Amino acid sequence: MATTLAQTTNNVDVDAKRREIVAQAEASGLRLVRFLYCDNDGIIRGKSAGIRDLRDRLESGIGLTVAMQAFTMLDHLASVEGMGPVGEIRLVPDPSTFAIAPYAPHTATVLVDMQTLDGQPYAADGRAFLKRMIARAADDHDLSLIAAFEPEWSLAIKNGEQFTPIDDSGCFTSTGMNMAAPVIDDIVAALESQGMAVEQYYAELGWGQQELSIRHGPALQAADHHIMYRETVRGIALQHGRYASFAPKPWGDQAGNGCHLHFSGWSKDQRVNRFYDAGGEYNLSTLARQFMAGILDHLPALVALTCASVNSYRRLQPQMWASAYRAWGPDNREGALRVASPFKGHEAESTNVELKSSDSSANPYISLAGVMAAGLDGIERQLTLAPPVTVDPHTLDESERKKIGADRLPTSLEAAIANLKGDRLLLDAMGEGLATSYIAVKELDIDAFAAADEAFEFRQHIYKY
Ligand code: GLU
Ligand code: MG
Repeated sequence: MATTLAQTTNNVDVDAKRREIVAQAEASGLRLVRFLYCDNDGIIRGKSAGIRDLRDRLESGIGLTVAMQAFTMLDHLASVEGMGPVGEIRLVPDPSTFAIAPYAPHTATVLVDMQTLDGQPYAADGRAFLKRMIARAADDHDLSLIAAFEPEWSLAIKNGEQFTPIDDSGCFTSTGMNMAAPVIDDIVAALESQGMAVEQYYAELGWGQQELSIRHGPALQAADHHIMYRETVRGIALQHGRYASFAPKPWGDQAGNGCHLHFSGWSKDQRVNRFYDAGGEYNLSTLARQFMAGILDHLPALVALTCASVNSYRRLQPQMWASAYRAWGPDNREGALRVASPFKGHEAESTNVELKSSDSSANPYISLAGVMAAGLDGIERQLTLAPPVTVDPHTLDESERKKIGADRLPTSLEAAIANLKGDRLLLDAMGEGLATSYIAVKELDIDAFAAADEAFEFRQHIYKY
């Protein structure tokens, strides 16, 4: 983690930034600006504004039917009161997220907040949920979360209706990196040009599987960047005639795609890593331990937000390094929470925790906000963290796992959603508008996929995420 962690989003002079965008649009010959949001089902959608009235559009936004937060990944409309054919919200850009899109001609993107017609945050907006949690952490606990989504994804070619991995290379192999090099090169350039600094890249275990991480940032920026990252990777891959998929399990016989979520809790001014204590076990402070205990306490329900698709639960299996148990440990890649070993000499900045039970079919605002709600609850209730697990929890026998609370995580989205419905803390943090629409959307997916075969599930997820 860096020593200086400047807050770069949401602290800008909004008017000045809007003027700057209009000037930049003119100077770069832009024709369209995409107003993008991520819906309850983790699908990135939006509408584009032309350039002529851009200044006004940036302020007043673009209208959207209220039905869209009840839409599923299959474009089915869930039945939610107030989310039918009558009524609109506004998609209002956060100008700090503006970026020229290197994967679409004469196009830029900007991420939006959903607002009611009278300019209030829309109750079913995931980004608003994250903003509320960020404000709560700062106001009540002098805490600012620094986070990074660490995505894995698969590169495929499409023959007819069939998606096939681009290679059958091995884990971290240079062969794998060479097979993907031209696409990766353009992706790296495109990410950097939009302000996302690339940290590491390698070919992952699965065929065609890639892992490319970008630098951490304050919570809202981390979630924003994950949206821009997904757009960029898929867009650039398409320019190469390739398909990038963030589906948690694109193929049954290959490694799953995680999107591990790294986080640490800093003071509000982002000067002190409050998760770090030189005298603590694995350098963890009491605050960090309480935050982690909160996550583990809520995890059976929280995974409904972080592993958010039917396909997610094919990935979340034992001995796949994906995490299948409610356990934590130092560099333990089979537990849900891994305490990442710090960088020698930089312990104070680099102490951070990784949630492995997380993938890119989640809406990153909702998943990160859920993690924060659970962690803050751990702090408020001063929860005690269970002992660390230093072996693969799957190798323990059932009674040992029971003793330390290392339960198996839900094995289906259906079970996770049932847990979420029983988790008052998470439901209250989401608020009724978001919780109701979110659950309705997921339940419609659960029914739709239960009625179809496996091939349909793979095909839909590989293509939509
Ligand atoms: N592919 C694994 C997952 O599904 C993660 C492998 C690793 O990076 O440890 O989470
Ligand atoms: Mg990996």
